[in-house]
Amino acid sequence: MPDFRDRAACRDAAVDPEWFFPTADPRAKTYKAEAARAKAVCGRCLVRSACLEAILAVPGPKDKDGITAGLDPEERDVIRVRRANQADRTRRAAPASSRRPVTV
Ligand code: SF4
Repeated sequence: MPDFRDRAACRDAAVDPEWFFPTADPRAKTYKAEAARAKAVCGRCLVRSACLEAILAVPGPKDKDGITAGLDPEERDVIRVRRANQADRTRRAAPASSRRPVTV
């Protein structure tokens, strides 16, 4: 079964895996420049969506390193929170009858 990682742009021989792990503190001015190279690779990656879904499936506390799917850990957490809030709003907006457990 083909895996999306087989088509990952970051697996290209010209790409240094170290680019995906900036050494600067995320609050440092140099961080953006360091992260930019990895983000550029992700920007042209054909499997970015699958990569994003795979990394978002990892619980936030376990996803604290590196650039993945063009995003740093903080940016990925923003998406996790946004999705959780959206799911919560959707659940609250559902009619009460649809929230009842199905009994047989
Ligand atoms: S989106 Fe970025 S990290 Fe994900 S597979 Fe593509 S190049 Fe690699």
